[in-house]
Amino acid sequence: MTLIRILIIAFLVWLVLRLIKNKIDQQNRKRADSQDQIATMVRCRHCGLHIPKQDAVESANQYYCSQEHRRLAEKND
Ligand SMILES: [Zn+2]
Repeated sequence: MTLIRILIIAFLVWLVLRLIKNKIDQQNRKRADSQDQIATMVRCRHCGLHIPKQDAVESANQYYCSQEHRRLAEKND
C-alpha cells in the first residue's frame, strides 16, 4: 500500500502548490490593475485636479474634470 500512499501525498502536494500559484497570480493581476489606474491619471486643464483618465472629459487632447471646466477653459481661449 506504500505506492498508493506516495501517490496520495504527491497529489496533495501538487494540489497545494497549484492553490499557492493561483493565489500569487491573483495578487500579481491585482497589482498590475492598480498600476494601470495610476498610469492613467490626468490633470484637469482648468483647475489642476487629478482624475482617472476614464472619468475625465477629453477635448482637443486636453483633459477636464467636468463638462463645466471644459466649457470654461474653452471660453478663456
Ligand atoms: Zn477642473
